[in-house]
Amino acid sequence: YMHIHEHQAKDLFKKNGIKVPDFIVVSNAKEAETACKKLGGSIWVVKAQVHAGGRGKGGGVIVCKNIEDAIEASERLLGPDASGQPVNEVIIEAGQDIAKELYLGLLVDRASERITVLASIEGGMDIEKVASETPDKIIKMKTSPLSKLSLDECAEVSVKLGLDESLHAEFSQTLMGLYEIFTAHDANLIEINPLIITGDNQIMALDGKIDFDDNALYRNESISILRDVAQEDEKERSASEYELNYISLDGTVGCMVNGAGLAMATMDLIEYH
Ligand code: ADP
Ligand code: MG
Repeated sequence: YMHIHEHQAKDLFKKNGIKVPDFIVVSNAKEAETACKKLGGSIWVVKAQVHAGGRGKGGGVIVCKNIEDAIEASERLLGPDASGQPVNEVIIEAGQDIAKELYLGLLVDRASERITVLASIEGGMDIEKVASETPDKIIKMKTSPLSKLSLDECAEVSVKLGLDESLHAEFSQTLMGLYEIFTAHDANLIEINPLIITGDNQIMALDGKIDFDDNALYRNESISILRDVAQEDEKERSASEYELNYISLDGTVGCMVNGAGLAMATMDLIEYH
């Protein structure tokens, strides 16, 4: 799959009618200062642009109450992170007044072969815990492969989430926008976590994660140009130049195979021994 950065996902969201906070991408502390001034307001959130998730818990999202702090946060985040992954850009984003954090996602469910909507009223950084401990709090809706997602279906998800009626239209527009991106560009997974309800009752995507099917990149040029090789494993990247599928693993055993099934079987055998 090909991943893209949060800021790239948010640009796609904006183009498809999904509200996002104002943000500016910067690559050094000097630009950070200019960005804060340009954004205005009194809270700035500095967010590392890395393909890895869990930035909030890992210190990659820093809420700042003054410009000096935002400059310092940018300096701290830019450069390699704790795991050695390069952070070449951060975004400075307008701080939002969060009343509620939801989760909204779309994925290809392999078992049913359907694009499936996943939504939860319990979004935020502990969504994995919600999924494993209280799976009934995650709403699932399979979409039809024969017709486009309808506004009625979107409203149905909104009702199931228990959202206030005043939010149905905006929620539906958000889900429609996601579906549009998903189907137009052969995505495999899109997640907004969190999708927030603000203090003044607006719906906004505070984060964005998209994985595209790399087998379909040839017909999605506007997406393939978003690839950031700096975020990829060096060995996997150079193998891909020769159209080889190479997967970096730790340990000392290598495995050369002519198909994913054989690869899995061989790995099982190695583990068994
Ligand atoms: P990750 O998923 O990598 O941890 P997020 O973008 O979801 O990163 O941010 C983590 C948390 O930081 C969010 O759940 C939210 O509570 C907070 N946050 C992120 N962006 C903003 C923002 N613009 N304003 C206020 N809080 C934010
Ligand atoms: Mg998130």
